[in-house]
Amino acid sequence: MASQDSENPSHAAFEDFVQAQTCKDVKHHFAELCKQLELNPKDFRSFYAKLKERLNYWKAKALWTKLDKRAAHPDYQQGKVCAKNKCLVLGAGPCGLRTAIELALLGAQVVVLEKRESFSRNNVLHLWPFTICDLRVLGAKKFYGKFCCGSLDHISIRQLQLILLKVSLLLGVEVHTGVEFQGLIEPSGENGWMAKLNPGSHPAASFQFDVFISAGGGRFVPDGFKHKELRGKLAIGITTNFVNRNTAAEAQVAEISGVARIYNQKFFQDLLTETGIDLENIVYYKDETHYFVMTAKKKSLLKKGVIKQDYSDAEELLAPANVDHEALCHYAHDAAYFSTGGKLPDLEFEKNHAGKADVAMFDFTCMHRAENASLVRERKGKKLLMGLVGDCLVEPFWPLGTGIARGFLASFDTAWMVRSWGMGVPHLKVLAERESAYQVLSQTTPENTSKNYASYSINPKSRYTRVNLSSILSHQVQHLYDVDKSHPSSKKQNKSSCMRQDSGGGFEELLKWCQKHTTGYKNVNVKDLTQSWRSGLALCALIHHFRPQLIDMSSLDESSAVHNNQLAFSILEKELGIPPVMSASDLANTGQIDKLSMVLYLTQIQKAFTVPAK
Ligand code: FAD
Repeated sequence: MASQDSENPSHAAFEDFVQAQTCKDVKHHFAELCKQLELNPKDFRSFYAKLKERLNYWKAKALWTKLDKRAAHPDYQQGKVCAKNKCLVLGAGPCGLRTAIELALLGAQVVVLEKRESFSRNNVLHLWPFTICDLRVLGAKKFYGKFCCGSLDHISIRQLQLILLKVSLLLGVEVHTGVEFQGLIEPSGENGWMAKLNPGSHPAASFQFDVFISAGGGRFVPDGFKHKELRGKLAIGITTNFVNRNTAAEAQVAEISGVARIYNQKFFQDLLTETGIDLENIVYYKDETHYFVMTAKKKSLLKKGVIKQDYSDAEELLAPANVDHEALCHYAHDAAYFSTGGKLPDLEFEKNHAGKADVAMFDFTCMHRAENASLVRERKGKKLLMGLVGDCLVEPFWPLGTGIARGFLASFDTAWMVRSWGMGVPHLKVLAERESAYQVLSQTTPENTSKNYASYSINPKSRYTRVNLSSILSHQVQHLYDVDKSHPSSKKQNKSSCMRQDSGGGFEELLKWCQKHTTGYKNVNVKDLTQSWRSGLALCALIHHFRPQLIDMSSLDESSAVHNNQLAFSILEKELGIPPVMSASDLANTGQIDKLSMVLYLTQIQKAFTVPAK
């Protein structure tokens, strides 16, 4: 409930929204806030700006300061770079929501679909330092005061989802719960790519999009992607949550950030002798719940009657009918009690989503990872960029706590891919870059990623110390471009896009656009996308054509190429948020102007000048 001093109804609605502790309440209070401020949440383009304008409340302002700082990063080009893109994100788990936030910052229209109605996962996630920093930047502490207090480096999945849901909504993301994605519907007639949903009558069923991001969790493989299986020796995980009453006695009990058998033989031997429980490792985090996760040996589970019958196939072995749930509860309880030295006196199970004791047993013998992280599909001339993030891309090995860290890294990489897509980078290059970054992902550790967390952005180079975004080349990802070759317009587009990629020629439309907007300027004659730009006058002319007040053409001298280039670069960066792609002297002197860099630069300029202002 709102605090007593919040007499202004919109302030009270904001307080309720910030404090809401269930998915349903977040959505309810968000709707109330929108009502109070007469805001249309579907007006994604200006939603956040209007919200800031209309909610004149000091507590909200502290949050805006944080979000504005993130949004001001040049990568987002003031939210214009993806202003023409429409993105569907499958899954409101932590990675789906984190990706949605980045796509919204890039200016895209973003719709998230989640089949569950509530956020009920008590399990606790270990956070790498960069994820803590990232979440702080998004205002996590404002939504959840206890966020990573002191040396804490974990959070429940539920709480993490709530934080990210709130940020998403504030940034204009549409989040629909209780709706299941059942597949993609190919374009037909006037319609572009759409999704088959359950219920079919859901309003999001009419949403047409050009970007589809799957964050559906482990083992969810959207059509067109393949998973690789990494099979290890049989590994049976058990997770359990107990009620945390936050008493002084509970506060005294030390966490176990990970004890593995090889490092503490005596502990595991004593556990076995005293209780008959045989474990490989155990972790205990004190969070909203007392959370334990352990790997148990099959023999002891059979002996303790948790597993009824032995099977060599892990699926059969752990099938619900072969598990005695009560015996499992005893097993988990006794392991938790012993490992905390009996100091957690009253171990009462927390309830799971079904209202039952929150104990689960699962098999992680097989880890799955997608063979590739991205695809482009084209049907009837309509292209769809597809990407995977989170567990859907790489299933994490939970004892290392890689899930959220690598999940967020992939979210950022994916946002970078969508950015390139929005900038009109040829699609094979978009795919090649994404796959190059994906190669690095599974080797990332807190040690080998950049320690400069404050400078982390969606650009992979800001995070991975050793990444070569050209390690995979366009011709190596041809198979990730799936086009209906029978369609005449697709054939034509396919041919022209290959030509654009492979012959190094093309880009006629861009050239024509540049010519059209620079004709008539003295000493400017745009014949190509390289040498014609050397003197800097053509760039200045482009700026002058669209924003005459920014540049005085009569003061420029054709022979001062470096100066002209520098002037144009600075104006484009300052006014349009487009960072230069080469130095002023490189463009002026070398005669070796990199065509692709120029194409990317000019494409961004074209976009910035032609996209309607937000
Ligand atoms: P999920 O959280 O699985 O979210 C996917 C979402 O998609 C779900 O909400 C689901 O309902 C929705 N969805 C699926 N299909 C559809 C559909 N067809 N339509 C609509 N919605 C759909 N990670 C760590 O970093 N540290 C840890 O300590 C850690 N411990 C773990 C312990 C255990 C026992 C397990 C199992 C995992 C652990 N992880 C840990 C991993 C962590 O839980 C995941 O990495 C994280 O939740 C993944 O987020 P996600 O968004 O990719 O997927």
